[in-house]
Amino acid sequence: MVRNLLALVLIVFIIGLITYGAFYSALTLANPDNPLNRSYRKYFLKRYVLRSAFRLNRIGDARFEFGSSDEFPTLAVNVFSQNGEQLSAATLERVISELARITDKPSGIILNVTERLSGLSGQSSDDDLKRLSEGYGPGFDFRRKRAAVNLFVLNSYTGLPSLTGLVRDDHSIFIFMETVRQVARFQNDSVGTEVSTILHEFGHLMGADHSGECIMSPVVEDATYENLPTRIAENYCESDIREIGNALIN
Ligand SMILES: [Zn+2]
Repeated sequence: MVRNLLALVLIVFIIGLITYGAFYSALTLANPDNPLNRSYRKYFLKRYVLRSAFRLNRIGDARFEFGSSDEFPTLAVNVFSQNGEQLSAATLERVISELARITDKPSGIILNVTERLSGLSGQSSDDDLKRLSEGYGPGFDFRRKRAAVNLFVLNSYTGLPSLTGLVRDDHSIFIFMETVRQVARFQNDSVGTEVSTILHEFGHLMGADHSGECIMSPVVEDATYENLPTRIAENYCESDIREIGNALIN
């Protein structure tokens, strides 16, 4: 009897392990367009514990943690700046008030401007970005029910110097101030350029693709100057909010 029970436990354990391995491989490692990813990834994303277990951390994977208050009623925005670079208080104030429009955070949005980044000099490479996003981690605080986004304010990016901003995982935004300043000269407004870039990148973290001619327009993050509109939007428009809303449904 005991041997039968042990055999049953072993079989269940092995089946569980194989199932976990199959899901892990399909969700985490394989082509994002595979049927399992397309149909079921969103269900895994809705539970932080499942997202952690399967290490789901692509761009947009934290959208339910930002866009819903079920598990995380508070959002922390953590700002880390390279020496010599910083965002103005006006920029951060406007960013927070716009984020409050597109997230669902009844307990509020907390701003932490605490730390200077060390070990960076001038331009940052892809390796630097990887080291920063992995080094500072996702920052989700399950105990305090707090989702988090890390905002890294850097001088410039060697990978594609025309970018004003970039996202590369579920929780990090990189802003490249040298390019932001170049764009700001065309816009006559450095605060507005910083705001639009950060809002654009946060839209990606909410699962939005490029669309429309407002914040989620591709020109907002890529300073190919001849394509720049005379005035880049500094608030989410209806088209942006629709695109973000669709990402939370689909
Ligand atoms: Zn973009």
